[in-house]
Amino acid sequence: SLPLSAQFSGFARIFGIETEYGVAVTGNERPVDAGQVAMMMFQPIVSRSRSTNTYLTNGSRLYLDVGSHPEYATAEARDPLDALKQDMAGELVMRRLAMQAQQQLRDHGYGEHACVHVFKNNADSAGHSFGCHENYLVRRFVSLEQVEHELLPFLITRQLYTGAGRVTDTGFEITQRADFLDEAVSSATTRSRPMVNTRDEPHADPEEFRRLHVIIGDSNRSQWATWMKLAVTHLVLCVIEESARVGKPSGFDEFTLAEPGDANRALSRDVTCQQARLQLADGRQMTALDIQRGYLRIVEQFVQAHANAMNEAIPNDTADHVLAQWRHVLDVLASGRVHELADRVDWVAKQRLFDALRARQGSAVSRARLEQLDMDYHDIANGSVYGALQRRGAILQLFDDTAAQHALAEPPADTRAVLRGRFVAAALAAGARFSCDWTRLTLSSPEHGEAVILDPFQVEPTPDVKRIMDALV
Ligand code: ATP
Ligand code: MG
Ligand code: MG
Repeated sequence: SLPLSAQFSGFARIFGIETEYGVAVTGNERPVDAGQVAMMMFQPIVSRSRSTNTYLTNGSRLYLDVGSHPEYATAEARDPLDALKQDMAGELVMRRLAMQAQQQLRDHGYGEHACVHVFKNNADSAGHSFGCHENYLVRRFVSLEQVEHELLPFLITRQLYTGAGRVTDTGFEITQRADFLDEAVSSATTRSRPMVNTRDEPHADPEEFRRLHVIIGDSNRSQWATWMKLAVTHLVLCVIEESARVGKPSGFDEFTLAEPGDANRALSRDVTCQQARLQLADGRQMTALDIQRGYLRIVEQFVQAHANAMNEAIPNDTADHVLAQWRHVLDVLASGRVHELADRVDWVAKQRLFDALRARQGSAVSRARLEQLDMDYHDIANGSVYGALQRRGAILQLFDDTAAQHALAEPPADTRAVLRGRFVAAALAAGARFSCDWTRLTLSSPEHGEAVILDPFQVEPTPDVKRIMDALV
């Protein structure tokens, strides 16, 4: 296989999405809390792996910490469309675990109508927030200052089309988490809630790479939104990387925000997308939409200048296709016809549902009813509205269920996930004891063996991988 530096040339990237889910139970006749239900969901995992932290045969990680927020972290993908399919596989896993736990509750006398709800959202009714983290492999020479000044304004303003929307005390907001995020860039996620986490765990060669760990992002039900947030962020990162590599300004620093937290909240509360003016570090004010249009202009020029390399970087798609989608959504927002985006933007899809409900019931729709509909939209186990939108063709579907099932069976074929997936499958078939992390495969019985795969683009078995695989046949 190629030497590392050759494989990493151009604008190739690794993408991963971590999604934490919220769990709740209704219809139970005996008391049971969300934490217990989450443990029931993980019973099959524990009996398979003796742990609530495991890797699956598609290379992904399935995890339950203490509490009731199971997490699915997708295997490494080289293409945002593949990352989307892997994330859809995660929904499928959670739904199956939920249905199995629900059956257990019903069988064990908790009530024949007990229902398990699994929410792909970011805030529960008790006011806790939980995350959907995007991971991007970026070259080490991109500084954290660059991330803060040049990337953060983009990450905040992209929520115009990636926000999932939420019913709040004051009405309705574009994003789920504006009230929960404060610091812009930080290495701690426990003490404070940064928008980009800089904890230095690249899961790759630390001399060459960072893993950019983006915390400011809603979980999306819309496939289009999940794909877009990765695909557009990738394009912006390419510009930033190239500018750092050649030592020339990217042009993005003119959008540096004075107070990212304030800007984030202001944008989130303006459903017109035209009124909120965000304060820039240089004293000017701009709308979120104008900032997005500024990013688009610079990225368009960059893609023109680097067309071949940019198109090669994402194996199943073209940069021009991503740009066209981005341009379209900004044009529609600028025209004021926000409702036309209800087939792809989660917060607009939700608004359309609320409007339809008001039209049916008159204006007297209670806040509680809107909150219920909001939660139902995110419930991947027992929710009804999102599935109904899909069946009516009212929401864009990039892939169907078959693609999700395939992604559950198969890791992305062009990253080290393929080696991890094969290892897990062989170890399970052999009844071996094993464990993994993102860069390591460990066999502890019948033999001891370990393989380190530091290169996320590695797809050919290394000698160490061959050795532990041979021990399993
Ligand atoms: P935790 O969430 O437990 O604090 P963590 O941030 O390391 O730890 P994981 O939940 O283990 O996150 O998920 C890591 C994510 O990073 C996965 O989606 C994975 O595909 C992705 N990933 C792995 N290696 C790389 C890499 N070199 N560059 C970018 N993303 C990566
Ligand atoms: Mg995680
Ligand atoms: Mg994480």
